[in-house]
Amino acid sequence: MAVIATGCQNKHELTSGVKLDNLDTTARLQDDFYQYACGGWMKNNPLDAEHSRYGAFDVLGEKALKDVNDLIDSVKDARNDAGSLEDKIATMYNLGMDSAKLQADGMEPLRPFLEEINNLKTRADVWSELRRMHKRGNIVLFGVFGEADKDDAKQCIAWAYQGGLGLGDRDYYLLDEGRNAQFREGYVALMEKEFAMAGYDRMSGIRADKLAQMVMNFETRLARAMNTKLQNRDPQATFNRYTVAEAQKFTPNIDWAEYFADMNILDGMKSFNIAQPQYFEEVNRVMKDADVEVMKAYFAWHEIVGAAPYLSDEFVNANFEFFGKMMSGREVNRPRWKRVTSTVEGAMGEALGQLYVRKHFPAEAKTRMVTLVDNLITALGQRIDQATWMTDATKKNAHEKLSTIYVKIGYPDKWRDYSGLEIKNDSYYANVVRSNKFDMAYNFSKINKPVDKDEWLMTPQTVNAYYNPTTNEICFPAAILQPPFFDMHADEAANYGAIGVVIGHELTHGFDDQGRQYDKDGNLNDWWTEQDAANFKQNSQILVDAFSAVKVLDEPETYANGELTLGENIADNGGLHVSYLAMQNAMTKHQVNKDQMDGFTPEQRFFLAYAAVWASNIRPEAILQLTQMDVHALGRNRVNVALPQVTEFIDAFGIKDGDGMWLAPEKRAMLW
Ligand SMILES: [Zn+2]
Repeated sequence: MAVIATGCQNKHELTSGVKLDNLDTTARLQDDFYQYACGGWMKNNPLDAEHSRYGAFDVLGEKALKDVNDLIDSVKDARNDAGSLEDKIATMYNLGMDSAKLQADGMEPLRPFLEEINNLKTRADVWSELRRMHKRGNIVLFGVFGEADKDDAKQCIAWAYQGGLGLGDRDYYLLDEGRNAQFREGYVALMEKEFAMAGYDRMSGIRADKLAQMVMNFETRLARAMNTKLQNRDPQATFNRYTVAEAQKFTPNIDWAEYFADMNILDGMKSFNIAQPQYFEEVNRVMKDADVEVMKAYFAWHEIVGAAPYLSDEFVNANFEFFGKMMSGREVNRPRWKRVTSTVEGAMGEALGQLYVRKHFPAEAKTRMVTLVDNLITALGQRIDQATWMTDATKKNAHEKLSTIYVKIGYPDKWRDYSGLEIKNDSYYANVVRSNKFDMAYNFSKINKPVDKDEWLMTPQTVNAYYNPTTNEICFPAAILQPPFFDMHADEAANYGAIGVVIGHELTHGFDDQGRQYDKDGNLNDWWTEQDAANFKQNSQILVDAFSAVKVLDEPETYANGELTLGENIADNGGLHVSYLAMQNAMTKHQVNKDQMDGFTPEQRFFLAYAAVWASNIRPEAILQLTQMDVHALGRNRVNVALPQVTEFIDAFGIKDGDGMWLAPEKRAMLW
């Protein structure tokens, strides 16, 4: 235990914030900093069968889940007032845990939905069913959600978005890289199996293998018309305003007016966004030419696969074998209590969040976070002033945006009302459907109205943080404000390296390749001079190239995707620079111990704490899946590829030309 130097404001003893057990001191940090900083953690926390990736983030996620489960435990056997929140939580949880009833019910809770679909006769019937499915949150063919108007971000409008693929993303259908071909085979096999298990083959009079092939062909057709994930990262290209009349002209076979009227949002609608117009041209063709039997098979499949996690073990296991095991590399499914806790949390997250913060979020943590965030905002302002690649005109606009960032810490001031959510003692799945319907209606109810800035997009028990460009807000839920991110008993150097970089990361999202296209009011509005925008792009390309050069897997040979992860990598890069400067500011105010603690300088403790956040073990299947789908780089790369870009890191550890972590100064990105 180190003692704080005299003259510091915190007189009581603080730890260094560096857990020595996490280190692998046999590794040469100049060559492989990740191994040095996290090797001990990785050895001490081997992967269990339940996880295909397990890291410091996941440890906290598991802890939050256990905390929430304890809260549920305290109400599940109590005599709760009928219709009370406690009663709803208890009823839904107990039905999910009642294994005997789940097995006995089998597919019965799903039957009414399948019969409804099997009875469809015409394309008009199909169109009506699509709207019913959307109302219960089953997104087939496309989705409609309430989101900000990007020209007037104070207003919420309807967004029509591509969607409705069982595999989630077009690439799985269209690319042969990685294990995609194998996934397609596995997916068809899963469909065949579950169609038969649900009895839809007998119901429809079509063989299960035939049904599976019909769905696969149809989803592949949809996939061909869809944007890639990269194309969807373009905020300009995905904002295309239509009035209902214009949309009717553009896609005459989609009855938009009827759709919106059915969702109670036609009245008062001035215009809406079609995010991927070329995709909706294909939907338009589908509405005209699709075979009714194919549409029925497609709808039935989405009912089955969506319901499977909430039915008997036969369905749960079939889904897991494909999505959990084959695609993600997990060996066994999560225990029932974890799955059901997640589901109840998904249904009544803010109700549980309210109980969670009362028990797990001390007022002192909020006070210290407020100070940290203020210090980070000040530091980003200084970084903007110091930037040599940007003109004063753009700097002025950047400052304006920074000064209006809206900060949320811990938990919302007002909580969501669940009194309209009906939970009955019939079946687990029936309640999941009611909850989905409740959420969809809630989402639709926001459309054509002012955006509620005080709404939270994450629950307090979520171990994460976010930046929302259209409200220009950063949000840090209570559950992330714990070690290894934030330690009330540690010297501030480590806190700046961990939660400080997270704060800096979220702030930088306001200025990354996407965020910089929004102004202080959250509108898509270019506030950059042409030269500054060109400099930004050129500097960003350094990060694209650095990450794309990294091989993440030998077999099948796979490289990281620097383009897909650009926004996140810019945010890490900015977060590191900004939080480091904030720490330097704090040092001049004697808020950081300048002496070595546990043998490390404050600068070194900063980077060790940063790396510790990304300590994780991961299976090849998860490497492949995340590299293909995740906009975040892998934990190892967020350390070993991100840090050589940062001169302060190179200096803190005396990294030299020839070391593995070395990058020549002219190859380091200059952004925020
Ligand atoms: Zn991020």
